[in-house]
Amino acid sequence: MVETLPGQSWDVVVIGAGPAGALASLDLARRGLRVLLVEKRRFPRWKVCGACFNGQAQVALASVDQGHLLESLGGLPLRRLRLGLGGRQTCCALPPGWAVSRSRFDQALVEAAVSAGAVFRPETTAQLGPASAQTRSVSLRQGRQQQQVQAAVVLVAAGLAHRCLENEPGAHTRIQPRSRLGAGCVLAGADHHWEEGSIHMAVGRRGYVGLVRVDGGSLNVAAAFDRTFLQETGSAAAAAGRVLAEAGFPALPQLDEADWQSTPALSRRSTPLAGHRFLVLGDAAGYVEPFTGEGMGWALAAAAAVTPLVLEGAGSWEPALERRWIQTHRQRIGRRQLVCRSLALALRHPSSARGLFWAASRLPSLPQRLMPCP
Ligand SMILES: Cc1cc2nc3c(=O)[nH]c(=O)nc-3n(C[C@H](O)[C@H](O)[C@H](O)COP(=O)(O)OP(=O)(O)OC[C@H]3O[C@@H](n4cnc5c(N)ncnc54)[C@H](O)[C@@H]3O)c2cc1C
Repeated sequence: MVETLPGQSWDVVVIGAGPAGALASLDLARRGLRVLLVEKRRFPRWKVCGACFNGQAQVALASVDQGHLLESLGGLPLRRLRLGLGGRQTCCALPPGWAVSRSRFDQALVEAAVSAGAVFRPETTAQLGPASAQTRSVSLRQGRQQQQVQAAVVLVAAGLAHRCLENEPGAHTRIQPRSRLGAGCVLAGADHHWEEGSIHMAVGRRGYVGLVRVDGGSLNVAAAFDRTFLQETGSAAAAAGRVLAEAGFPALPQLDEADWQSTPALSRRSTPLAGHRFLVLGDAAGYVEPFTGEGMGWALAAAAAVTPLVLEGAGSWEPALERRWIQTHRQRIGRRQLVCRSLALALRHPSSARGLFWAASRLPSLPQRLMPCP
């Protein structure tokens, strides 16, 4: 049963209970702020994601005393990347990471935020409303009920294709012209070829598919495809089957029966990243193709970095705060996104993709060099 909507006035309203929103809520609530965390979907929920947590994600979790979380959820340690391209495969070492299902991880982080004192409202859609000098209004919709609440600071952590800033003058999202679309599913009974501890990454000319065993033994499948390739093959299952075959991985008949979810265009830039009494973080701030599987690391790192600004802004809000957030975001996230974007671009061209494959075969530590722990 859906609970009634909460009270009127908050220090912080956080929109979106993915990794960015949940970690920010946890950190701010444990520092004594009154935090309302609002989530559109019913929880727990699965979302399209490779389910791999890198060093940056682990550092951010440790910063809010959740360094144990991935292991305690039954996460599987990651050690290797098995890369398949043009019918050949190679294996590289990975920096230490974990594979954990998104439904379990997101739910656990929300529970930690609630234990720290945050109030959580699932199945509630939020939109940024008008500002006054002291507060920002947020409109909440839960079924047929509507309500306005006030917050000293609003954190927009509503993921890739949110519409929370629709009423904000000048807010804009630019989608990259050849952006790929994401798709994913979970398979319960895949065979032993897909061993624990490895990310299996099949790279094709018009998309790639990543497969990893997660807690409980199921196989998490996450992919990015060209739009035209999806149209041509007719479904994400067929597109994934083709990419796996091209890369020389065994067929996975379960793909056809699986419950696939998809995403809108992945590569996008959103502006502004900050405005009067609101800050934007996680995928809501813009995203690049997920080849290096770092989005949760970026989302968690941004959430950990936003705390000092929120603590300051909850008292008095200065425009300098907005500039500081844009700068912090660029420094912490922008550089790594650039590496990811360049790699994803290189993989679209057969000659540079073969070059990267060749380099990875001869230099098994390549992933560690390209994506060192922060
Ligand atoms: C194919 C693919 C593979 C990936 N693989 C990896 C990987 O292996 N490792 C990794 O680190 N990252 C990976 N990512 C990226 C990762 O999934 C995202 O970067 C991460 O989920 C971002 O977290 P977030 O909290 O910003 O957004 P989300 O996790 O998307 O959470 C946002 C939440 O906001 C809610 N919401 C939206 N609008 C509203 C609203 N108006 N009101 C209330 N709630 C709202 C949504 O329902 C959602 O629950 C992958 C992504 C894709 C597409």
